[in-house]
Amino acid sequence: MKDKKIIITIDGYSSCGKSTLALQLAQSLNYIFIDSGAMYRAITLYFLQHNMDSHKSEDITRALNQIHLSFLKNPDSKKSDILLNGENVEKLIREMKVSEQVSQVASIAEVRAFAVSQQKEMGLQKGVVMEGRDIGTTVFPNAELKIFLLADMHTRILRRYDELKKITPGISIDEVRKNIEHRDYLDSHREISPLRKADDAKILDNTHLTLEEELDIVLAWANKIIRDE
Ligand code: C5P
Repeated sequence: MKDKKIIITIDGYSSCGKSTLALQLAQSLNYIFIDSGAMYRAITLYFLQHNMDSHKSEDITRALNQIHLSFLKNPDSKKSDILLNGENVEKLIREMKVSEQVSQVASIAEVRAFAVSQQKEMGLQKGVVMEGRDIGTTVFPNAELKIFLLADMHTRILRRYDELKKITPGISIDEVRKNIEHRDYLDSHREISPLRKADDAKILDNTHLTLEEELDIVLAWANKIIRDE
């Protein structure tokens, strides 16, 4: 029997290693990997570049109408870089000034509707691993495999610090910790689609797992569904 294609969602707090796992999983299954956070970051970058500080719905909608997001495969990282109106902004969206604002922007109803409708479309063909905060609850509530990833706070801070110090020399561990705590709080307390585990999501704590061990566990879960075992 031919393997069926499924949708896999990975949700969790900031810096739990969702992207790393999602990328490996997508490569192993020959699926598309989508980093939904990159979309909220690119929208935030656009708002910052255009000094968008209005809270009026019509102003936000007008700004969103000027935004076109797309992804382009990067042969070096094997990930897809995000393009904002045709410009590759993958590096810019990782900067601290975007990280500081993104959770506030991502709490805006119009912004979520804009991103979620595009994300749903990307799943139409199945064969997708998408990671974020509301993928198993809101974007793909019927996904065949849902994972809620956990890692302890110290591990998360060190992982993000190691990533960020390459692009932001001089950044302190304390700044990284504050940003993670700030985003965790806003992401799990917002009104629309707050970060929470979907009732049918499997919990995976990767604090003490190597990437290989983590991938083995998730691939076993996925293959069971794909092969109808
Ligand atoms: O995944 P990443 O940390 O890059 O996401 C950046 C921010 O985008 C999150 O802190 C959150 O505010 C927002 N986000 C979201 N819903 C998603 C993915 C990300 O609200 N599905």
